[in-house]
Amino acid sequence: MNIGVLALQGDVREHLGALAESDVLARPVRRIEELDGVDALVLPGGESTTMSKLAVTFGLLDPIRKRIADGMPVYGSCAGMIMLATTVLDGRPDQESFAGIDMTVRRNAFGRQIDSFEAGVRIDDVPGGDFHAVFIRAPWVEEVGADVRVLGRVSDGPAAGRIVAVRQGNLLATAFHPELTGDLRVHRYFVEMVRHAVDAR
Ligand code: GLN
Repeated sequence: MNIGVLALQGDVREHLGALAESDVLARPVRRIEELDGVDALVLPGGESTTMSKLAVTFGLLDPIRKRIADGMPVYGSCAGMIMLATTVLDGRPDQESFAGIDMTVRRNAFGRQIDSFEAGVRIDDVPGGDFHAVFIRAPWVEEVGADVRVLGRVSDGPAAGRIVAVRQGNLLATAFHPELTGDLRVHRYFVEMVRHAVDAR
């Protein structure tokens, strides 16, 4: 099982580390040949407008869209969630996404004055209690299509109830950054998704 981390921009090293701790040797993906060599992809947190520009420059936008359409498992955190959304609110006019998850996300949704905060998030399918989630200029999900499962919402604080984790088929997205907190449950959940997808081929 080969998992790649899109390494154009963002917290690539943290995702590689979290996957290594989940017993998966993941590799950075920057070029199309590297994309061809992976079964699954992680889209890191970072800056979705920059990631979008670099994906175009590196010729990866359409190839990744195609892999997603062909069923490749992808997990996106924060900017990675934005890159998986079919509709992005408060984005740049020329901002592109890989799409895949039928949802509307709002960038920097928790308010400009709140750069980062922490909150509890309960995630269906992931046992072990509330997730201690770190949000950094994070999006939230405003709307989901019929095929999207809402996996997690903010449990407490002013943003309680906001959708921050979703899954559609082989695509998983969180508005927060489990790669930064040492709690491996989301990464392990994704690795299981990849295992199922690879076994089903
Ligand atoms: N605000 C960023 C964006 O729009 C996402 C922030 C993050 O990934 N921590 O891409």
